[in-house]
Amino acid sequence: MMPTAAPILAVLAGHEGLTPTDRELLTLARRLGVGHAVWPGSGSEAPAELCALHGASATHVLAGGSSDSLSADSTAALVAAVAREVGANVVLLASGPSAREVAALSARLLGAGLVLDASEIRIGADDHVSAVRSALSATWDVHIHVKRPAAVVTVAPNSVTRIEADDARAARLVEHAVDIAQPSAVTVIERHRPDVSEGPDLARASVVVAGGRGTNGDFRAVRELAELLGGAVGSTRVATDEGWIAPATQIGQTGLTVAPRLYIGAGVSGAVHHRGGMQAAGTIVAINTDREAPIFEIADVGVVGDLHTVLPQLTAELRRRRG
Ligand SMILES: Cc1cc2nc3c(=O)[nH]c(=O)nc-3n(C[C@H](O)[C@H](O)[C@H](O)COP(=O)(O)OP(=O)(O)OC[C@H]3O[C@@H](n4cnc5c(N)ncnc54)[C@H](O)[C@@H]3O)c2cc1C
Repeated sequence: MMPTAAPILAVLAGHEGLTPTDRELLTLARRLGVGHAVWPGSGSEAPAELCALHGASATHVLAGGSSDSLSADSTAALVAAVAREVGANVVLLASGPSAREVAALSARLLGAGLVLDASEIRIGADDHVSAVRSALSATWDVHIHVKRPAAVVTVAPNSVTRIEADDARAARLVEHAVDIAQPSAVTVIERHRPDVSEGPDLARASVVVAGGRGTNGDFRAVRELAELLGGAVGSTRVATDEGWIAPATQIGQTGLTVAPRLYIGAGVSGAVHHRGGMQAAGTIVAINTDREAPIFEIADVGVVGDLHTVLPQLTAELRRRRG
């Protein structure tokens, strides 16, 4: 697929520098066309430099700056104004709750088609967007063709491999005078991460190590392996119901849906309610004492054994190989 010459907008988180997801969006934007960043946060010089390093031809901000990250309404107003001004028909966002809100509002303002959680995106010869997203617990791929000229797309976590830009660009900051006078119904008082675990955000982590009832409440080996792999700790509903670990770590139908490159489930039976939240993972490794456990049906690598023996062995071996 040849990239189009049109600008592709990557709407970034707008705080704490560039997040890994921001870098994925910038990679995808310049793969599809000419990448532009929309920065809906405070400060402007630093993000413009950073975005240029990651291949953005321009970084668009609100004229006059903002003291904090913009609300969803204000971000959507900025996105729509930028898209109209630069003639961008494709807008990319992350797939978290606030980005989805911005995506829906932006699509309404632009009269654009909206695709949520796309794992693949293409721009056809007619400049219309086609996308693929998984559905029904990752058992189906849905192919979507956007009929409207413009498309707003949220990108599923870990569906883009971040590649550093090989052509450093001069930072170009473009300020837009946008009327965001409409006060938002919500005021952000402070931001903090939920008490999940140290390490990356579970919903976006590229490695997840999950523990279930088989841990019997002892998550130390699960945490140690997750930390070594730079991954996040996940769990089953049994583990959270028992109070062994924070509810925010629960993966599954009534918890989070994750799509890491690597999922390791230890002492997890693989009940259908849990599978719904993890079977889109790239590679699934299961450690279970019961060789009949359902998780082995979907595992790429299965280890029949006690997690309290296998996980420490795995961690020690990885440490040894890393020197
Ligand atoms: C409406 C509804 C929604 C639900 N939503 C969710 C959800 O979002 N997420 C979720 O996870 N569950 C959910 N559940 C619960 C789900 O059905 C299962 O009960 C749950 O996922 C099982 O958790 P588990 O695998 O930890 O426990 P179990 O099914 O009890 O499995 C424990 C496994 O650990 C193995 N094991 C035991 N000891 C060891 C050891 N020392 N080493 C290695 N393996 C060992 C066992 O062989 C067994 O396979 C939901 C249920 C309902 C009804």
